[in-house]
Amino acid sequence: MASKRDYYEILGVSRSASDEEIKKAFRKLARKYHPDVNKDNRKEAEEKFKEINEAYEVLSDRQRRSRYDQFGHAAFDGAAGGGFDTGGFSDIFDMFFGGFGGFSSRGGGGRPGPERGGDIRYNLEIEFEQAAFGAEIEIEIPRSEECTACAGSGAASRSDIETCSQCNGSGQTQVVQNTLFGRMVNVTTCSRCNGEGTIIRKNCPRCNGRGRVRTRRKIKVKIPAGVDNGARIRVAGEGEAGMRGGPAGDVYIFLFVKEHRLFKRDGYNLLMEVPISFVQAALGAEIEIATLDGRETLLIPEGIQSGTVLTLKNRGVAKLRGGGRGDLLITVRVVTPRNLTGEQRELLRQFASIGRENINSEEKGIFQRVKEFLA
Ligand SMILES: [Zn+2]
Ligand SMILES: [Zn+2]
Repeated sequence: MASKRDYYEILGVSRSASDEEIKKAFRKLARKYHPDVNKDNRKEAEEKFKEINEAYEVLSDRQRRSRYDQFGHAAFDGAAGGGFDTGGFSDIFDMFFGGFGGFSSRGGGGRPGPERGGDIRYNLEIEFEQAAFGAEIEIEIPRSEECTACAGSGAASRSDIETCSQCNGSGQTQVVQNTLFGRMVNVTTCSRCNGEGTIIRKNCPRCNGRGRVRTRRKIKVKIPAGVDNGARIRVAGEGEAGMRGGPAGDVYIFLFVKEHRLFKRDGYNLLMEVPISFVQAALGAEIEIATLDGRETLLIPEGIQSGTVLTLKNRGVAKLRGGGRGDLLITVRVVTPRNLTGEQRELLRQFASIGRENINSEEKGIFQRVKEFLA
């Protein structure tokens, strides 16, 4: 055993301290180092708490204290001292400071109950169209499952599971402790079997005794039509396997929708731009455009201005929970021609010399204003 600290030193009292002083010191330290109130450095607090308890166990007992005073730690080497079982923290604490409240503890020992499996987050990238119209996608989820070779027991065979001899299968042991109120029998989780009540002699070779194995499981996910980036889908019961018969966790699928080459989404509406020539803009035209549903003819009315938005009804994204579809909103961009041939230039000059008469009154106003400004 490594050099142990002096019990008086641990409790911070003198060797001549009265029972009352020892009790007071212990109460103060126990409150400070109780593992349940030191969640951030629980491990360290546990060690400290254990130390404090051990010191108190001895110094609060007249007989043991006098033996310690004579022989030091050697007085309790071997069987006489008896180890302190960490299973009973909360019990002791509650006994002293009852009503501190909220401590989660298996305290009284016994077999641990069923435990729900953990949830799994899965990021899934989907195509633009899959989000717009919905889809069924098969994905593979890495998760732990109950080992089929040992049915989750962790043992190589049924005969390798034996009843724990320390607790006779109850999962609990009784520890006698000295407390402020005298000797108390404290029931704690069995330290040999961790409360399982059984010991495994030979581990299952498939899972190495863990009772669980890592697998990849294929599941089908229904993507509802109309979902957007960041949507979350919960698939119940497909997460990590539960322990000791507990239910499995869930899978949460976070959707990331890929961008589309042509369309942008605005809620359930789709936005796109279509370039047309200035001749098409002036004379009107029928042009072919791509929609999510395939090619369609779009009617360009004559005299359209660049930036005008045309609407194709019901060519947008399907609305979640039914209710039809959004629209396709097409912004028309009139492209000014470059690299004209001599003949084209000549025609445009002719067009301009005739055209001036045809400018509508509003536009004439703008020309007039520009002319005045330059003058
Ligand atoms: Zn046991
Ligand atoms: Zn196994």
